[in-house]
Amino acid sequence: MNPILTIVVPCYNEEDVLPYTFDQLKGLMLRLVTEELISKESKILFVDDGSRDRTWSMIYKETIKNEWVRGLKLARNVGHQNALLAGLFAAKAVSDCVISIDADLQDDIEVIREFLLKYHEGYEVVYGVRKKRDTDTFFKRSTAQGFYSFMKVMGVNLVYNHADFRLMSRRVVDELERYGEANLFLRGIVPLIGFRSTEVYYDRRERLAGETKYPLKKMLSFAFDGITSFSVTPIRSVLIIGILSFVISMVFGVYFLCLKFFGDTELGWTSIITSIWCIGGIQLIAIGLIGEYIGKIYKESKRRPKFAVDLDAFRSPISIHERVEDEYIQRSIQKLPETN
Ligand code: UDP
Ligand code: MG
Repeated sequence: MNPILTIVVPCYNEEDVLPYTFDQLKGLMLRLVTEELISKESKILFVDDGSRDRTWSMIYKETIKNEWVRGLKLARNVGHQNALLAGLFAAKAVSDCVISIDADLQDDIEVIREFLLKYHEGYEVVYGVRKKRDTDTFFKRSTAQGFYSFMKVMGVNLVYNHADFRLMSRRVVDELERYGEANLFLRGIVPLIGFRSTEVYYDRRERLAGETKYPLKKMLSFAFDGITSFSVTPIRSVLIIGILSFVISMVFGVYFLCLKFFGDTELGWTSIITSIWCIGGIQLIAIGLIGEYIGKIYKESKRRPKFAVDLDAFRSPISIHERVEDEYIQRSIQKLPETN
């Protein structure tokens, strides 16, 4: 029996690129089935992460005319990581393995074939790793590189140059579901789960249409979440800075006392004001960081669900047709704008 594969594709305002993505992935599925790498039951699951454009209506229409496509609509924008999780958890009940890929297909879909060959060899996690980052802007490349190096210093184990393009067996997704934390940083968690894993290398292309949904602000908050969800090094470094500045101030204290007794006592305003600023700054950093951790504890203790499913076209498009009787759904479908 060939394994049932579900490709999970999170989408946020992706109307420009979706027609191309539907086409490409459908072609790929047909080839994989012919090669007997996957079962005919395999699907592509598009997760609409609260898009404000025609993304959902396009996905919905595609589920009706394209047998490979299923859709999941989240009630609001919850961010790439959570949208991906929603898709993975919905998919795992009906799949033997899942592959996550971005809607813009920057990651080479031909590599999926290699993922599956590895899966057939018995690997449960296959990471897609970028060979080089020529197509990224200089800025994106250097910030990403900086991020990986910084995470390493912070003691977080990440697969270098691997974004969320990976294959996971159902077993791995089952384990992933047991991680109850609210700040799920997939790239850090998946290596923690374990199981046999390997890497496949590929070249990353440019985005085909639309623009990046990860502006600097989101990238920074993603990186910051990654660090503070996984590492206590920042709070430790604050402690070290505190100890160091205490030692330094003792040394200077002795020095100033010596000056007072044996020489020139004209101590300037500059030294006082600099030390006030310095100590004030250190205190603020310390308070800010402690606050960040307390904020995390607060969020975790609430155990809020990470997403809410609004409409579910995943199980079968027919089930949606049956539910069309339901007044609410009928109304929401009428409201969908036209696509062509
Ligand atoms: N995405 C999402 N929710 C968001 C932001 C992004 O589901 O709030 C999706 C987006 O549709 C895409 C993937 O996450 O499929 C990666 O985003 P993008 O390609 O814009 O990021 P980049 O490749 O520039 O890092
Ligand atoms: Mg992209």
